[in-house]
Amino acid sequence: MDDIRTIRNISIIAHIDAGKTTTTERMLYYSGRTHRIGDIDDGSTVMDYLDEERKRGITIVSAAASFPWREHLVHLIDTPGHIDFTAEVERSLRVIDAAVVIFSGVEGVEAQSEKVWHQANLYALPRLAFINKLDRIGASFPRVLEEINAKFGGKAVPLQVPVGIENELGGVIDLLSMRMLTFGGEAGERVESVEIPAAEKENAQRQREHLIERLADHSDALAERFLEGSEITVEMIADEIRRLTIATTIVPVLAGSAKRNIGIQPLMDAVLRYLPNPAEAAESPAFSAADDEPVTIAPDPSAPFAGFVFKLIASTTADLYYLRTYRGTLKAGDSLYVPRTRETIRVKRILRLYAKQIEPIEQVGPGDIVGISGPREIMTGDTLCTRHQAVYFEQMKFPEPVLSMAVEPRSSKDKDHLDEALQLLAREDPTLAVSRDENTGQRILSGMGELHLEINTNRIEQEFHLQVRCGEPRVAYRETINRQVTAAFTFERMAGEAELYAKVTLTLRPKEQQDPPFLIENKVRTPNLDKKLLRAAVDALTDGIKTGGHSGYPLIYVSAELNELDVQPGKTTEGAVLGAVLQALDKAVNDVGTHILEPIMTLDILTPDSHLGDITNDVHTRRGLIHNVIDVVDLKRVICEVPLAEMFGFSKALPKLTGGRGSFSMEPRGYKAMASS
Ligand code: GDP
Repeated sequence: MDDIRTIRNISIIAHIDAGKTTTTERMLYYSGRTHRIGDIDDGSTVMDYLDEERKRGITIVSAAASFPWREHLVHLIDTPGHIDFTAEVERSLRVIDAAVVIFSGVEGVEAQSEKVWHQANLYALPRLAFINKLDRIGASFPRVLEEINAKFGGKAVPLQVPVGIENELGGVIDLLSMRMLTFGGEAGERVESVEIPAAEKENAQRQREHLIERLADHSDALAERFLEGSEITVEMIADEIRRLTIATTIVPVLAGSAKRNIGIQPLMDAVLRYLPNPAEAAESPAFSAADDEPVTIAPDPSAPFAGFVFKLIASTTADLYYLRTYRGTLKAGDSLYVPRTRETIRVKRILRLYAKQIEPIEQVGPGDIVGISGPREIMTGDTLCTRHQAVYFEQMKFPEPVLSMAVEPRSSKDKDHLDEALQLLAREDPTLAVSRDENTGQRILSGMGELHLEINTNRIEQEFHLQVRCGEPRVAYRETINRQVTAAFTFERMAGEAELYAKVTLTLRPKEQQDPPFLIENKVRTPNLDKKLLRAAVDALTDGIKTGGHSGYPLIYVSAELNELDVQPGKTTEGAVLGAVLQALDKAVNDVGTHILEPIMTLDILTPDSHLGDITNDVHTRRGLIHNVIDVVDLKRVICEVPLAEMFGFSKALPKLTGGRGSFSMEPRGYKAMASS
């Protein structure tokens, strides 16, 4: 079992193309976990283990890779940079203790990195910044640094300065040791510390003083020594950087070029030196399963076990779950309790997930990230713990899918196989949903965007070897009720000789437009009611709401109350309850009527000042509302809301509208009534 102080749980987050994959590959290579650098350009990266990701060269799914570095173990949770995958980003942020944010030395702060930065703030994540691509034409370390400070509240503190720029980039100066680091050998593996070139000395000295002044602003100990003119050792500076980074008071900034193998090992060293170990990280909110009261989870290896499942790779044979451990020690073969289902599952194997190989281990302590296999009935977001002192971690919230597309097998003999593939994909990805169109019987796949759906249909073809035909992606509409309604239905039927009976009364009320999309409350107070029947009623109501209102779209912004369930011994079966609930729901919805809601997106655009007019015009033609325009250095940030139905083609139009300099991020904001309804 690893000492918790030697563990780091981090993510690398960045705008797409800033160099996250290249940086990751270099880290894995230097750690000795891969034998050659898998260059993203030749499509052979080890993190991107799905075929689809290899082909596209973008990282879609947050896989985990663990690697050793100087007697430590770093768990790297990969996160996607594309706007369609913000849920993946969120769930990675939940289980990491810190992050490395990569910025391009040319493009600087882009819309997606800005968004992720703010998400990281929500989780109070300590972070390091790495300004990459300093070998490219047009790169500038000071400019990007200034931009980071302008946009993120002046927390960025450089610990290095690059030596040379663009083609001339030759290494970095470490402002603590006041040495220049060069990266020789075939792939930058030979790090040498040399004298700072004469021409750079004065600037480096100034930057070092500036660094100490910045730290002294937040450190009495350093300020005192600085004013007294007493010696300040490298260790003292590093200790203060660590303390202030963990407190999220500062964000240390490093420099380099992943592609040219410059600056990666110092970045890895900085992860160990400045980022928190799991015992020092912010606590995850958790609750007692017995009474839902908040509880503190200390990373004590001898306490009852508690861990959180943040991802799964579904398969027809054995699912692989990614587990973040928080408390206690888990041994292979242990049985654990799942508070959501109240069932017990058995953990067959515990796995170390290195980049290329998977190694079984006997046990794992707190603060770690491992793979486990064995159980089948758990989901992303489940807590696994001991039955005694059971706890649960806050559920993750995933946005509702906003786009839907029909998916059909090319050959009808593949129907069952396709259903199985769709179910597996939906199990893996909580933002993906599978349903049937009631009128046409077509299979419908719903997701977060065009790319999200395309990637999943490609996975069906490549991983499951199925040929499919896809319809055009359509906006996933919803419905809501016009006003409160109560309806009752008595289900009475003969099934052969047997008489069936169930009576249900339920009330639907409009609900505030926020998560969760609908609420179900059980107000049935009949004594000694069979729990199975009650559960069948609640399940039927849940399914009924999900499958549809008046026009066949799922109902949202509804709270549903089950008021009465009347049963007769021997006559009331689960089937009869289901029938009664669905009919009562149908009646209620027909009585008050519904109106259709369309998904609305928050759109966050960065554009050069000169193109602001074109952007605002475009947003208006898309039925958009502009909420705010903010100055950001020489750019404008336009925050608006736009119906998703109007967003098709926007990513292609943006470069034309902004002379190639715009970027945007988009996320679901909620639903609004359609203007025409
Ligand atoms: P990701 O989308 O953030 O994972 O970015 P990638 O690592 O896939 O990099 C995007 C592109 O930029 C690829 O073609 C890389 O080879 C290239 N790239 C990454 N880092 C650097 C760098 O430091 N300098 C240069 N010139 N190109 C880089």
